[in-house]
Amino acid sequence: MALGTPSEYLNRLRARQDRLNIYVGGEKVNDVTSNPVLKPVINVILKTYELALNEEYRGILTAKNWKGEEVSRLVNVEMSIEDLLLRAESQRILNYRISNCNYRCTGHDGINALFASTFDIDNKYNTDYHRRFLEWLEEVQSKDLVVETAMTDAKGDRSKGPLEQGNEMAYLRIVERRRDGIVVRGAKMHVTGAALADELLVVPTKGMKELEKDYAVAFSIKPDTENIYFISAWHPMDVMKKVSSDMGSESDYPSPFGHRSTYIVIFDDVFVPKERVFMEGQYEFTGKLVEYFAAHHRAGGGACKAGFADSILGSAALAADVNGVLNTSYIQGRLLDIMRHGEAAYASGIAAMAKGWKHPSGEYIPNFRLANIAKLDAIEHLKEAIVAAADVGGGITVNAPSIKDIKVGEKVSLAIKGNSSYTPEERLRAIRLLQLWVAGPHLVGVIQGGGSPAAELLSLRSEMRSKIQELIDNAKVVSGIKGKEGKGAAS
Ligand SMILES: Cc1cc2nc3c(=O)[nH]c(=O)nc-3n(C[C@H](O)[C@H](O)[C@H](O)COP(=O)(O)OP(=O)(O)OC[C@H]3O[C@@H](n4cnc5c(N)ncnc54)[C@H](O)[C@@H]3O)c2cc1C
Repeated sequence: MALGTPSEYLNRLRARQDRLNIYVGGEKVNDVTSNPVLKPVINVILKTYELALNEEYRGILTAKNWKGEEVSRLVNVEMSIEDLLLRAESQRILNYRISNCNYRCTGHDGINALFASTFDIDNKYNTDYHRRFLEWLEEVQSKDLVVETAMTDAKGDRSKGPLEQGNEMAYLRIVERRRDGIVVRGAKMHVTGAALADELLVVPTKGMKELEKDYAVAFSIKPDTENIYFISAWHPMDVMKKVSSDMGSESDYPSPFGHRSTYIVIFDDVFVPKERVFMEGQYEFTGKLVEYFAAHHRAGGGACKAGFADSILGSAALAADVNGVLNTSYIQGRLLDIMRHGEAAYASGIAAMAKGWKHPSGEYIPNFRLANIAKLDAIEHLKEAIVAAADVGGGITVNAPSIKDIKVGEKVSLAIKGNSSYTPEERLRAIRLLQLWVAGPHLVGVIQGGGSPAAELLSLRSEMRSKIQELIDNAKVVSGIKGKEGKGAAS
């Protein structure tokens, strides 16, 4: 069994923290493990280890790898449809129990994307990327390391490609090739949990063209490698975290797991040893790599959003209770709406998993068309769940004062008091938890995470175009228009 423990992760983080270049609110972080903005991210990661060790989740949060060893599902390569379905289940459990992103799913999806892509490249060029990747993966699985995938480039002016930017941070690329490795430069954006990972998987952001070979690069790197810098996202909720370094009872931040933390990652001429390079110039495989990643990520996203919806449902119901309206028929109807939307998001993700396919490497990859649908559906359903939760919670979900304001005086306390089964402080705590969902950064995460809706629609559009003539022909046959197959508007 190769399952990690919370303390092993913390020890690794402590051992490297002096070499990490992390910036929060414009300041370099000296004590990584106690910084109030980083701590919730660390708490999330610790919880993933704790939950995987729970016997109840064995076989769901854990998996048998292709060698039959038990590993964390977060670093597993999925080898059957059953595995894909269990992966969906694991996403739902983690995100529900943590009430936040689990911060490790991009690692899973990057691992699965590279397992298949390195196999494809070697098949064509007789290279040894797959062997290198497997050696790296063996260490990751045996130590149960935290992996995050950095895919999204900064991208600069969106109307221009990588070669026309005139901005060296816009797209990550190889700037030097050495006998023992490569040097890369550029910036990745929005990378979930990146600064606190054990390993970063860096992959191209899109399909590259022949002239863009230098941008067709994939590798793994340790976050404490020289010349890597992490800039933490900054959200209005972080103001409170920064002024109050105590994340315990003094802080009125709603949960030890925080909201949603991502990082800009600057690669300022970073050396990557050859053994860690998994693609170097094979531009014709970049499109498929992105597709494999997106298939896993968007299908898993349906289940991830179901976990969010479970959490939203629980916090909305608690908010209704502290407000004294839990058992009214209108509120019960709105809670049912949240549940319905969560299950619908789950169903699309599960469908993409159930219709997965076997790649020649042996890995199973979710159905890409259905994974795109799962992503688009998740936006619609989570959006509706959030609207219902905001309706249930009332105006206080955005207008609540600090828990510390209760100390202002008895009359303030009485103004905040709701259902007499709860204290005013308890009411505020319940409301703040709901605030995470209705007024936090999650909605944008649902819309953009895994690719903007335009990216999913683009894939679906090309699939529709390739099928449309066949569908028109079928419509002609059904409607009795004879002898005109292949002569529709689409031909
Ligand atoms: C919470 C969160 C977590 C994330 N986690 C990760 C992570 O762990 N790893 C990772 O790699 N990425 C991560 N992402 C990044 C995510 O994949 C991107 O946000 C997404 O791909 C969109 O890219 P963008 O944010 O640069 O938006 P933009 O590309 O700026 O898109 C904004 C809008 O402009 C449109 N647009 C963009 N380019 C064009 C064009 N050329 N022509 C016409 N329209 C265009 C888009 O369709 C969209 O509507 C995360 C994002 C979020 C919000």
